[in-house]
Amino acid sequence: MARIVMKFGGTSVADIERIKNVARRVRAEVESGNEVAVAVSAMAGVTNQLVEHVRGAAKLYDLREYDAVVSSGENVTAGLLAIVLQSQGIQARSWQGWQIPILTDAAHGSARIERIETGELLQRLSQGEVAVVAGFQGLEPERNRVTTLGRGGTDTSGVALAAALEADRCDIYTDVDGVYTSDPRIVKKARKLERVTYEEMLEMASLGAKVLQTRSVEMAMKHRVRVQVRSSFDDAPGTLIVDEDEILEQAIVSGVTYSRDEAKITLQQVLDKPGVAAGIFGPLAEAAINVDMIVQSVSAGTGATDMTFTVTRADLDRAIAVLEQNRAAYGDAVLSVDPNVVKVSVIGVGMRSHAGVAQQMFRTLAEKGINIQVITTSEIKISVLIAEDYTELALRSLHSAYGLDDA
Ligand code: ADP
Ligand code: ASP
Ligand code: MG
Repeated sequence: MARIVMKFGGTSVADIERIKNVARRVRAEVESGNEVAVAVSAMAGVTNQLVEHVRGAAKLYDLREYDAVVSSGENVTAGLLAIVLQSQGIQARSWQGWQIPILTDAAHGSARIERIETGELLQRLSQGEVAVVAGFQGLEPERNRVTTLGRGGTDTSGVALAAALEADRCDIYTDVDGVYTSDPRIVKKARKLERVTYEEMLEMASLGAKVLQTRSVEMAMKHRVRVQVRSSFDDAPGTLIVDEDEILEQAIVSGVTYSRDEAKITLQQVLDKPGVAAGIFGPLAEAAINVDMIVQSVSAGTGATDMTFTVTRADLDRAIAVLEQNRAAYGDAVLSVDPNVVKVSVIGVGMRSHAGVAQQMFRTLAEKGINIQVITTSEIKISVLIAEDYTELALRSLHSAYGLDDA
């Protein structure tokens, strides 16, 4: 007997037929003698619709009310799955985040889970009841308000439940049968990975592979949760997320990702003297605007330099406002923006022990006539900023160049 958590995403619960399909999978686990907790997303498209309603209601809105609205999609699926399970003779009960409770901080819209009270869930699981938990939701205890965990947050609900319940596995059921070397919707030759390390998965998620929410991977890594990503529509084995020593032959590059959520800001002719960077980036940090890639060019003795950096597209307008307010810090620099950029990254733990990976990336892009605007690297990844129009060409060319194409 094992204790398992099963997570089902929006497409897996898109209508009643699909919820019945989910129930069949849950029943199979119960009938094998397992204790089962399930985390469910809202039906496909529902959360987007709710977000649109909120934006339509007012341009500026209270995030506590945003959470009250957008968290509701998950309540429907949790209740429906419990009903379908019961109709099949399986003991099941739905749970909203506040009922467990799943306690979070007060960062409405992207709250972090701090603790899950598992007492009652554990007792019911041991009596053979299936716990169907509405994903994406938490409770902020200070003000007693519902929170949400950020888009894609049901992945984190699932992994956090698995960690808190000390489950043997967390199976993430979705519309692809695993984690691929690149987004299979764009790179047709992408290959399914049998295994991927926590570290690589963390980089892939944070650099754009939205198959798992980044925080779910952080949580899995921290608590060593055994996560498997698999399809809810077929029985093909999925992708296991594992420790590095569980992979025998490590490829140098395991994944190529992209993120369109980037906007580039350039300040030309910035004074070149100590304290200027602090004067530019300090106020942005105070406004909670995350700056990602940064390059500063050499000033070649002119006393001025150029500074280029990226922020998320959602933060662009605010970033410009903050920069304009703080002009005193950097002189009469010319400010320009380009929201039509994309960050393409190659990721692999094998980079630690192999030279030439970056060179191959630069050569491949050059051969396709793709200009690199900004470069950043870390131990296991290289990211470049390019014009958005070249996203697909860059992904496919890099995927081939690193020998990742499916034969
Ligand atoms: P769910 O609704 O089940 O949470 P998501 O849409 O959030 O599903 O995530 C699954 C999608 O992630 C896939 O349909 C796929 O297009 C996309 N994706 C992006 N990169 C990858 C990748 N490297 N491997 C697998 N899927 C990826
Ligand atoms: N329904 C939420 C969303 O669309 C959470 C999730 O599906 O993981 O972001
Ligand atoms: Mg998702």
